[in-house]
Amino acid sequence: MTDFTRPDGRLSDALREISFEADFAANATGSVLVSFGDTKVICGAMLEKRVPSWMRAQNVPGGWLTAEYSMLPYSTLERKQRDSSRGKPDGRGVEISRLIGRALRAVVDLQKLPGHTLWIDCDVLRADGGTRTASITGAYLAARLAVQKLVDEKALPENPFTDSVGAVSVGIYNGQTVLDLPYVEDRDATVDFNVVMTGKGQFVEVQGSGEEATFTEEELAKLIALAKKGIKEISGMQAAFLTKHLLGDLSF
Ligand code: UDP
Repeated sequence: MTDFTRPDGRLSDALREISFEADFAANATGSVLVSFGDTKVICGAMLEKRVPSWMRAQNVPGGWLTAEYSMLPYSTLERKQRDSSRGKPDGRGVEISRLIGRALRAVVDLQKLPGHTLWIDCDVLRADGGTRTASITGAYLAARLAVQKLVDEKALPENPFTDSVGAVSVGIYNGQTVLDLPYVEDRDATVDFNVVMTGKGQFVEVQGSGEEATFTEEELAKLIALAKKGIKEISGMQAAFLTKHLLGDLSF
């Protein structure tokens, strides 16, 4: 479609401006402020010297990696009440926390975290669509910075990562397949996908649904191709960031 215009003027296959700021939360072992346009998420990683009780009870060897996601009250246009004052966890937040944990565990050899849990915390500073995919992209970087520090300090024997991981949203907006949707597009999109892939090009998760709409097999193929293109670019940016901050030691 030639007359198609996105609200921010981007081409249908263009990402928003993406940036990573290292050590944003200085007390975390590794931290990154990730921005996808106006979506900004603080990602922190810290190691705890214990494993979950189910692992201890079942004598599961190795370690664990887990994630928690939350939106700061002022990250949204209308104030979002904290779970602590609501008295119960927000279902959406729990689902996104699990997604981030699964995404990161897909690229970690848990045997190389013996007796430890690597905690990833993602706190949304500003939400403008795609907070879960930005969280995964930044969480990987925060975790890699943390792991490097822990290996240097001999708190971990070696780097447990086997690949990189990144994520992006794609969708159908105004009848057109588009990459990396901000809130204004996400709100009106008829199809909404979140895709998680590794740097080596493997899929980790594809979550997609029609919002009171359906989609064809051809559109599905187009959405996946668009996500692959976006994640390939994101993966290149992640590698450039790590090359700058890890001074060598990049096997992938
Ligand atoms: N949003 C919001 N309040 C909420 C949940 C979502 O303002 O409680 C907005 C926010 O901009 C978010 C967008 O809606 O980024 C899309 O939300 P969705 O649940 O699709 O998750 P996301 O795209 O952020 O991963």
